[in-house]
Amino acid sequence: MAPDPQSWPVPSGSVVDLYRDLHRHPELSGQETRTAARLASELARRQIDVTEGIGGTGVVGMLRNGDGPTVLLRADIDGLPVKELTGAPYASAASGVDRNGATVPVMHACGHDMHAAALIGAVDVLLERATEWAGTVAIVFQPAEETGEGALAMIADGLPQLVGTPVVALGQHVSPVPAGAVVAAAGIYGAASDNFRIRIHGVGGHASTPEAAVDPIVAAAATVMRLQAVISRETAAQEPAVLTVSSIHAGRAENAIPDEAELTVNLRSFSASTRHRLITAMRRVIDAESAAAGMTRRPSIERISGAPLLLNDPDATRRTFGALGESALDTHLVTQPMTGSEDFGALGEALGCPSVFWHWGGTAPDRYSPAELATLLAEARFPEHVPMNHSPEYLPDLEWALPAGIQAMSAAALHWLQQPTSAPLDQGTR
Ligand SMILES: [Zn+2]
Ligand SMILES: [Zn+2]
Repeated sequence: MAPDPQSWPVPSGSVVDLYRDLHRHPELSGQETRTAARLASELARRQIDVTEGIGGTGVVGMLRNGDGPTVLLRADIDGLPVKELTGAPYASAASGVDRNGATVPVMHACGHDMHAAALIGAVDVLLERATEWAGTVAIVFQPAEETGEGALAMIADGLPQLVGTPVVALGQHVSPVPAGAVVAAAGIYGAASDNFRIRIHGVGGHASTPEAAVDPIVAAAATVMRLQAVISRETAAQEPAVLTVSSIHAGRAENAIPDEAELTVNLRSFSASTRHRLITAMRRVIDAESAAAGMTRRPSIERISGAPLLLNDPDATRRTFGALGESALDTHLVTQPMTGSEDFGALGEALGCPSVFWHWGGTAPDRYSPAELATLLAEARFPEHVPMNHSPEYLPDLEWALPAGIQAMSAAALHWLQQPTSAPLDQGTR
């Protein structure tokens, strides 16, 4: 169906204010205490049972509306160490302390504030339309998505006991495609992600006497270059994979050879066999380059974070997109997964229910030319001239993104909550 913004819900002023407040006060992964308290109070204000502090700063609301299926709706809530350059009146000037002890600027550069506000807006729609459905809505505000830790932390801290077995877990992500579009793959939709910290142990010394040192900078440089051949020479051309050396640090003085170089490496893969191959090859190259440089200590290779494959249940995804297509949204089921990652998939896996995760457009359609708009929608790809998520200039267009996100999440939830069940309906026990 062609998108019809006129029929999308109009968020209340308080939900718009909630978005602006969350945007102005972003918090780093795992430190979302203010955000979590604000969201818990929004749920409590709506007479929804709230449990706080699950997996650190996770919040779960249980909206009970008689007998029926349980549907899990998830929004992530963390910001990123990025300095905001959007110029928005509600731009963040916040800073935080990262896990290395460094003070860093913080911004909702991935739009997770929009996810949280849209979920509260969708809850308002479900409350308004409570006579049209029965069941339980498990509202999950998940911390630490960016570090790939939050979903697993909530699972380990009792989420399954709290929510039982939902019929489906639904999650969505705002993106710079035009508002009104929703995009997903009915199958593998997000890459598995693995992040490693590597320490190459050299022997430090004076810059003028390299023969008395073992230089970890040269070994790190050789390692970085050799790692580039893993994708081109060791993985099959038919299956995408990514290996990025994402940071490199060594040395402080211009006249000294340091004793250590530190790298971080990010891997993305779409199957267990390729993931295994990438990790094995990465370890082999790092070990061998250290040995080639004459290091006496083997390098240390430590996995610091990651996310599992994001697998959209094909049947549940088609059903959900059928419902979204009938709800004034323009649906695009793509065949290629994104190379981005999401830890949302861990929730459905642990709870034993199908997962459906999609991107929704949060950018005003008039920011594209008509021709560009047609191509973007036909090919369901991200535009080049609108800043992407994680950019210091990424900002969803509030007046478009929030109603579109509320419409998508509430329509998807209603579809699953309106399924007939064998149990009699009881509308009186919310
Ligand atoms: Zn992100
Ligand atoms: Zn994100």
